[in-house]
Amino acid sequence: MKDAVTATLLSGKDAAAEIRARVKERFARLKASGITPGLAIVTVGEPPGGNPYVRAKTRAAEEVGVRARVTRLPESTEAGVLRGMLCELSLDPAVHGIIMQLPLPSHLDEDRHLEDVAPEKDVDGLHPLNVGRWVNGLPAHRPATPLGVIELLRRRCGDLSGKRVVIVGRSRIVGRPLSVLLSQKTRGMNATVTLCHSATRDLESITREAEILVVAMGRRRAVTSRHVGPGAVVVDVGIHAIEHPEPGGPKFEGDVDFESVRAVASAVTPVPGGVGPMTVAFLLSNLADAVEAQEQTR
Ligand code: NAP
Repeated sequence: MKDAVTATLLSGKDAAAEIRARVKERFARLKASGITPGLAIVTVGEPPGGNPYVRAKTRAAEEVGVRARVTRLPESTEAGVLRGMLCELSLDPAVHGIIMQLPLPSHLDEDRHLEDVAPEKDVDGLHPLNVGRWVNGLPAHRPATPLGVIELLRRRCGDLSGKRVVIVGRSRIVGRPLSVLLSQKTRGMNATVTLCHSATRDLESITREAEILVVAMGRRRAVTSRHVGPGAVVVDVGIHAIEHPEPGGPKFEGDVDFESVRAVASAVTPVPGGVGPMTVAFLLSNLADAVEAQEQTR
């Protein structure tokens, strides 16, 4: 009988640690010239127990010598107040990077407030000026999660030119920018990309054709072995907290049914410990770029 394929674990921990170590050196050089990097995170309507993403970003920033400050605005915050806060931070010379934590409550217009962040401090790469630049292949802050996914793929697959990549999910922070960056005619990228979403028909037949499958759907364990072709590399961006975890069992799971997919794929990212640490590492790398660029022009 033929042995079942068991996928390699495509961990992001070591790669993220390497990137963070390089960023730490950059921050240390800045510190030596009297510059303390500053990161501001603005949240609106944080849940009572706090936001785990905000905690992770703050902790990671402080670990590499960044002064991180979180401004927590109540759920009922009006547009003018949020705008005032973002404009104030945009003018503050001690703040080099600003994150407006998404999603915002439904009464606030995300597109409008993304424009309230100074483009040079927009370390999430979501200001329309930055989006316009990276879509056109010009230097700009680019969203951290796609950068993290690309780095994992680069390490696993090398040159992605001509590879058949299927992405499930077209969010502004993951799927859409990833599709743009992977399909650019630049060295190492140049992939053939298919972008799927909730109106995609016969998802399984499309995803099964992928050499590389990236899943960012926000739906727990939605992708199973039925969606995966033999030997595919599968990147699971999703992360969901398990409400009542078994004692000693996992506390999180992804958009991919890990146990089912690992029998078919050649490599699959774990959740946690796959894309998550890469996102944080590239956010810090974006911040280092922002600090260096801003201090050069002062
Ligand atoms: P999102 O804004 O929730 O968007 C989900 C996308 O999936 C949408 O484009 C949606 O299509 C598509 N989709 C939903 N159901 C589908 C279905 N049945 N078939 C095909 N497509 C479907 O997504 P996101 O913000 O990218 O987040 C995705 C997941 O990644 C979440 O679990 C989030 O927590 C996680 N995440 C993790 C990181 C990290 O660093 N690890 C970073 C960001 C996000 P429509 O556009 O048609 O609605």
